[in-house]
Formats: sequence, C-alpha cells, structure tokens
Amino acid sequence: MSFRVAVLPGDGIGPEVVAQGVEVLRKAAAMAEVGVELQWGDVGGCAIDASGDPLPDVTLQLCRESDAIIFGAVGGPKWDDIAPEVRPERGLLRLRQELGLFANVRPAKVFSALVEASPLKRELVEGLDIVTVRELTGDIYYGEPRGVTTIAGGERSVNTMVYTTAEIERIVRLAFGVAQQRARRLTSVDKANVLETSRLWRKVVEQVAKDFPDISYEHMYVDNAAMQLVRAPKQFDVIVTGNLFGDILSDEAAMVAGSIGLAASASLGNRTALYEPVHGSAPDIAGQGIANPLAAILSVAMLFKYTLKLDGLAERIEAAVEQVLTQGYRTRDIHSPGMRLVDTAEMGTLVLEALG
Ligand code: NAD
Repeated sequence: MSFRVAVLPGDGIGPEVVAQGVEVLRKAAAMAEVGVELQWGDVGGCAIDASGDPLPDVTLQLCRESDAIIFGAVGGPKWDDIAPEVRPERGLLRLRQELGLFANVRPAKVFSALVEASPLKRELVEGLDIVTVRELTGDIYYGEPRGVTTIAGGERSVNTMVYTTAEIERIVRLAFGVAQQRARRLTSVDKANVLETSRLWRKVVEQVAKDFPDISYEHMYVDNAAMQLVRAPKQFDVIVTGNLFGDILSDEAAMVAGSIGLAASASLGNRTALYEPVHGSAPDIAGQGIANPLAAILSVAMLFKYTLKLDGLAERIEAAVEQVLTQGYRTRDIHSPGMRLVDTAEMGTLVLEALG
C-alpha cells in the first residue's frame, strides 16, 4: 500500500502543529508498513505573499493528485484588510468546493485526564465520545436567491435554505456508515416542524435508514438537540445535520468536550479527504512554539481511520495522546496547577514515544 498526502501547513501556528502531526504520521505509517509520500504546498496568507493567490493552481493540482490532505490553519492580521475574494480563508473554502468535500466529521471526545476542561459537570462528560457529521456544501450558505435590496424605509435581505434529495442522501448515507463503525446510533437533527427543507431531510433519512437495519436512529429538532447537548451529551453517538445547524452544534459539542486545542476534524468527499484541527491560526501565540499540537495529531489519527482504513492505528494514536495527558503533560492552553508544562515540540515527542 502506498498513499500520497499533501501537507498544507498554512499560517500562524499551522506550520508548528502540522510539523508534529507529520512526525506522528511518519511513525504510525512505518509501524503499519504503509508507504506514505508527503508533498508540501502553500495555502492561505503565505500563498498570497508568494503568488497573490490563497489557493495557487499548483497547490490545487497537488491536492487533486493526493489521497489525503493535512491542513494547518490559514489567516491572520497581516491579511485582514485585503479584498474578501482573495483573503486567506478563501483558499480553504475553494479547496472544499473544488474537491467536493461535502461532509465535515468532527469527534467530540473527552479524555479522562482532561474531564475538568469541560464546562459541564464531570458525571455529564466523563467518557463522552460523540461525532457530528455536518453537511458542508449546501444549505442557506450557498442557496439562491441571496442578497440585499433597498426598499422604502430601509433594506431587505434574503438567504435561501435549499437542499435536494441527492445532497441529503449522500451525507445521510455517509453518517449511517460512520455510525456503523461506532456505537450504531444516529440522531438526525432538523427543524421539520417549521421548514420544508427539513421535511425533505426527514423523508430522505427514512428512506436511507432502510439500507441500514443495524443502526438505531431518531429525529430531533435542532432547538432540542442544542439543549440535550448540554443536558445529557452522552445520549448521542453520531449526529447528522445540515450546514447551518451543524455549524452551530459542532462548535457546541467541541466546547462541551473542553479544549479547542484537542478538536480534530475530517472533511470527506468522493476521493481526497482533508484533515485539519478545528482551531485557527492563533496569531496571538504564533512563532512562540507553545501551541498545542494535539488537535493536529488527532487529525492524523482520523486520516488513518477514514482514508487509510487502519482503525487500529487511529486508536493507537488516540491512546498515545491519552497516555501523555494521563502522565500529566500539558501545553500552556490546557495547563493547570500540578501538571508538567511542555512546549509544542516536546508534546509531539512525548506522543511519538508513547506510540512505541
Ligand atoms: P483561533 O482558533 O486561531 O484562536 C482562538 C484562541 O484559541 C486564541 O487565543 C488562540 O491562542 C487559542 N488557540 C487556538 N488554537 C490553539 C492551539 N492549538 N494551542 C493553543 N492555543 C490555541 O481563532 P481566532 O483567533 O478567531 O482566529 C485567528 C485567525 O485564524 C483568523 O485569521 C481566522 O480567520 C483564522 N481561522 C482559520 C481557521 C482555519 O484555517 N480553518 C479556522 C478558524 C479561524
């Protein structure tokens, strides 16, 4: 087996955390005797500086020819004042569109050593392990018509929530597949009591469910889901929902789990998948070598699970992270009294050692 992986570190702390993720990737691949060919590309602000384009053609081509992408983060104050269509963030949005990355998969897992990092009570989050599957390329963010018009007495603005059967079916099917690899429970979140879009969503879920008789599923209104996530989050296994509701609920789930420095994600489509930490480029701490690399490392674990289909190795990487945390090592963002403070590179090395 040999795989091609594009490495796009981006801006700010992106290169610092991705460097640690890449070391873990190299070691885990060697352990599994999997060939991985790594190639680096520019994206975001550093690509604007080099070529005027946040997603240069050469980077896009590299991604198209790869099986997976390890992405850091893009953006920073240096590029805040340039035109929206060439901002660093456009690089990521275009990449998602060009590669048809329609599903964002985000685990919210609480490591037992970090239970205290959650704002919720220990008994509510101890052992929490849920996954949000958010549709990424449709919904009110892309629907037409959209815009602002001037009317008597002010302005009128419009956005359109829209989904087709095919768009719903592919994300729901993917989510049922994710549930099959986990505790086999799926919660589909919508607002079917008010929205036609949601009623179609529900109808499609019912259809797709017939192909997955081994999965128990339920429907839940989004307002209730937001409430249940803080009342009793452990009731969930996999949550599937549209772009707008997923945007909000996946952040809520990440917060329930505790630290942004540990939140990983995968964006899946038809072929090349993109793995990235949920956090941004953290300009306030960039260049200091103190960023938490665990979200980037856990994104590499997702690469092993979803692209390489090596679940065992994904679990070993997660277990290595858990072990290092249990031993009391912490980067500054998750440090608490009595714990051992380490920097980005030290944390990466500790995870490598724990991998064995
Ligand atoms: P951010 O996630 O970069 O930072 C928020 C806070 O969390 C900061 O205090 C930061 O220091 C801290 N933080 C984040 N990741 C950390 C880590 N790994 N270790 C330790 N501390 C960490 O969000 P922001 O400040 O809103 O955005 C900064 C820039 O990043 C902006 O330009 C934004 O557009 C961009 N951004 C990019 C992405 C992406 O590339 N996917 C996502 C979000 C934000």
